[in-house]
Amino acid sequence: MSAAVIDGRAAAARLRARVAAEARGAGIVPGLTVVIVGDDPASRVYVRNKTKAAATAGFRETTIALPAETSEPALLQVIARLNADDAVDGILVQLPLPKHIRTQAVIEALDPAKDVDGLHPLNAGHLAGGHPRLVPCTPKGVMTLLAEAGVALAGARAVVLGRSTLVGRPVAALLTGADATVTLAHSRTRDLAAECRRAEVLVVAVGRAELVRGDWIAEGATVIDVGINRRADGRLVGDVAFAEAAERAAWITPVPGGVGPMTIASLLENTLIAAKARRGFA
Ligand code: NAP
Repeated sequence: MSAAVIDGRAAAARLRARVAAEARGAGIVPGLTVVIVGDDPASRVYVRNKTKAAATAGFRETTIALPAETSEPALLQVIARLNADDAVDGILVQLPLPKHIRTQAVIEALDPAKDVDGLHPLNAGHLAGGHPRLVPCTPKGVMTLLAEAGVALAGARAVVLGRSTLVGRPVAALLTGADATVTLAHSRTRDLAAECRRAEVLVVAVGRAELVRGDWIAEGATVIDVGINRRADGRLVGDVAFAEAAERAAWITPVPGGVGPMTIASLLENTLIAAKARRGFA
């Protein structure tokens, strides 16, 4: 079998256009504020891409760039001000934060209604309880891609490789909510290859270049590769050996051009959801 490639760029463009049209139709200009601390070059690129996408969708976007030596109390003050600012619908704190700031303290300081990254414990709890509100952007993008590919999830055997709070755990919760039978695998899992081979739907988020080989994939499986790894030669690769896996899968996402673009589109979707909820839309 040679897999059909799920085009994340095209899916993300459709989603961004749909969100922009929905906001216009509702007469809403959602406000997104991104907070970045320090000058990590990769984080700066991510922030620029997010705010550019927000502006293109017609959202009001603001970036607050703080120096690396910003103290935790000073950052918490900024968050408190944004929480109280009626013009701000969504707050995204770009991670990672400098080591002297406790990430969890910052996440917990966010107004859950403005937490468009879906990381606040209240939003994580709603998701774990099966009543998602604001859902982390990358997992949400994974689910959109599965829907785009028309993958039937009810009753399917799904394996999620990686259990981070940012990706693996929320993906597992969303797949459970879609009635898949979910195995959450990680670095202590015995015989990872055998677990993966049982998957009709395999979502991989580990951050190890091409860890998942072709013979780990069941014939006809759907493979979603969340990983982004830069090889020594500068090439970006996923956590799945793409060419090998595509020989056996029915559907597969590429890296780049798969899950990555969906993350930003999902952020816009979350910001619109937050903006509508704050304005009392159903
Ligand atoms: P993370 O917090 O480092 O978590 C990695 C997970 O993978 C952990 O649960 C870890 O297990 C597991 N793991 C690590 N090595 C393993 C191995 N050899 N075998 C089995 N499991 C292993 O990473 P993350 O934030 O979830 O990100 C994962 C990847 O997705 C990264 O490449 C990241 O760049 C990418 N990513 C992409 C996007 C996007 O927009 N496309 C967004 C976020 C992340 P333990 O829990 O046992 O340690």
